[in-house]
Amino acid sequence: MLEIYNSLTKQKEKFQSLSEKKNKKKLVTMYTCGPTVYDYVHIGNLRSFLVADLLRRVLEFEGYKVKQVMNITDVGHMTSDSESGEDKMEAAARREKKDPWQIAEFFTKAFFSDIKKINLEKAWKYPKATDHVKEMIKIIEKLIKNGYAYEANGSVYFDLSKFSGWGKLSGNKIEDLIAGARVEVLPEKKNPYDFALWIKNPSHVMQWNSPWGKGYPGWHIECSAMSMKYLGETIDIHTGGEDNKFPHHESEIAQSEGATGKQFVRFWLHVKHLLVDGEKMSKSKNNFYTLNQVLEKGFSPRAVRYLLLSTHYRDSLNFTFDGLNAAEKNLAKIDEAWTKLNSAVYKSDGGAELFRAAEKNLVDFEAALSDDLNISGALAALLNFIKEINTALTAGVSRDEVLIAKRTLLSMDGVLGFGLEILKEGKIPEKIKKLLVEREQARKIKDWKRADELRAEIEEFGYTVEDTAEGQKVKKRN
Ligand SMILES: [Zn+2]
Repeated sequence: MLEIYNSLTKQKEKFQSLSEKKNKKKLVTMYTCGPTVYDYVHIGNLRSFLVADLLRRVLEFEGYKVKQVMNITDVGHMTSDSESGEDKMEAAARREKKDPWQIAEFFTKAFFSDIKKINLEKAWKYPKATDHVKEMIKIIEKLIKNGYAYEANGSVYFDLSKFSGWGKLSGNKIEDLIAGARVEVLPEKKNPYDFALWIKNPSHVMQWNSPWGKGYPGWHIECSAMSMKYLGETIDIHTGGEDNKFPHHESEIAQSEGATGKQFVRFWLHVKHLLVDGEKMSKSKNNFYTLNQVLEKGFSPRAVRYLLLSTHYRDSLNFTFDGLNAAEKNLAKIDEAWTKLNSAVYKSDGGAELFRAAEKNLVDFEAALSDDLNISGALAALLNFIKEINTALTAGVSRDEVLIAKRTLLSMDGVLGFGLEILKEGKIPEKIKKLLVEREQARKIKDWKRADELRAEIEEFGYTVEDTAEGQKVKKRN
């Protein structure tokens, strides 16, 4: 059974989804804090998204259907933790001499292109903050009604002195905030540490009408609003980078729980930061990389994926070019074994060694990932399997052994996402590939009705699908 370290309770817990508990449906709701589209995402951001992707694939491997929402922040994320900073979108717009909407459009496109390159599974929804201002206003009204928020001079603040749960995620108590003076004192706030839900600032380019006059929403409120709209008042999993834990996620909890009176998130998962050559990434140190800057050096996006996933998410990852080279080498080993399996000459009297190796390594692989995404254990099982495949191929293998070995490699690859791409043969469109993946999942949980519906849908696109010992075989209908 899958165990995840919950940053809320600070311990590993057995994972069971809410719907599984209620009606035995293997459905998971998952919210992933997405990018602020004022610039290209950097490899540290990508690591955090990749861990969410790995978790999702592990859940799918375990037979869950995952409803994942990843937001696009295109307003309200300030350059500092307080409201005294500038909106990152507006700052970028000023710098580039464009309007913030153009900036958002450009970097949203860049973001989608990046995550496609590193093979992130598509989220169910990618809602934009600016499309959900109405929903945010509704929650703010509820918070005022419930006594958790107040209006002052056209801005609205969350009154932290009223929310007893403050600090339960990050451990930051109100007293610490005052001592650390993390926020700038604005005279209109009741308490210096109250954070803004709605901000009045006539010089801000993006403005919306609200019951408190023209203004724009704070950053934290968007995630409460979009998570609630698409996934309900209580969600199973919320992921994000460690730097989002405070104040962003702590504030999300305060807003959501203040509005609904219900637990907001059951499992919080935080990804530790990334170092480059052992140092914190920063533009001034010249060790700050976007995906394209790494790819321009000749590395493949698969190697970036491999390296960014290869350290456990609760340890800081040291990104180096030596590490990328090692990742390329490991991928080449995997590809080579795959190719050799596909061109193997079968022996009628092949041994049974590969059956044993496939079973044992798959069990080890699954056991490792079920243990709070122990990626080192999973990669060790995969690479060990590759070694055993090579040995078996030298000794001679039967057709059935090859089939099982290929199927096992594909299962592992489906979770790690390195892309053996068996379906590439004959250029199957993305749309069909998606349906096939969904159908594979339906079959795994023995939902034959859904599998049949998906087959019908695939056929509507002019393809036929056949279930073989090797898995699904898809062909274009003649
Ligand atoms: Zn968020």
